[in-house]
Amino acid sequence: MTAPGRPPATAEEAALQVALACQIVARHGHEDLTLGHASVRGPAGNTIFIKKKGKALREVTPADVMEISLEDPDGHLTPGAHLETTMHIEAYLARPDVGAVIHTHPLHSVALGATDRPLAMLSHDGLLFPDGVPVFTGTAGLVTDPGHAREVARVLGHRRAALLRNHGILVAGEDIRWAVLAAITLERAARLQFVASVIGGLVPIPDEMAAELAEVKYQDDFADEYWQDWCRMVA
Ligand SMILES: [Zn+2]
Repeated sequence: MTAPGRPPATAEEAALQVALACQIVARHGHEDLTLGHASVRGPAGNTIFIKKKGKALREVTPADVMEISLEDPDGHLTPGAHLETTMHIEAYLARPDVGAVIHTHPLHSVALGATDRPLAMLSHDGLLFPDGVPVFTGTAGLVTDPGHAREVARVLGHRRAALLRNHGILVAGEDIRWAVLAAITLERAARLQFVASVIGGLVPIPDEMAAELAEVKYQDDFADEYWQDWCRMVA
């Protein structure tokens, strides 16, 4: 299976992007039972396509993806939807620039979010998050309440990623390529920080150099190349 990573032109393409994203992040340490979900904004802009409840991330196919209206205040209660679908809906409503959202429970990111330490700019991975990764502390439980979901979106702000303390991560991208890149890169950065902190004191990239490097490190055509590589990986 492969699909262009840009905003989907059809419902079929949207469902395929969600399935691929689930399978890809599963290969990168994001699998946790049948939990975690990816979504994309649909071609019309006012719906989302999101993984349904029931399957593990690694086994999601387009048939396991459902469409939910962003205009339906009870959309998150749609039968078959994950309990935390509200987090996706509120992120899209708050951020017209967002075309894809992923929520998972990757081990190293969850561990980092359960400490008082911020994500440190220790390698190129951290450059994808130039304004840091904020932490939502509203609840350690599932985010099933639209009020909590709006608070997650507020904490996320204009950024690519937020940690949910003692729980997981939420990442947002302009399209599926960038959301998957954020999910994989955040977990890699958290893992790297864990390894580095075992070896010795952390020495982050200086702020000014990080700002310079961030401009060239992550570019749109690179995101295309990475997306194609991930699609080959799960083919
Ligand atoms: Zn969760």
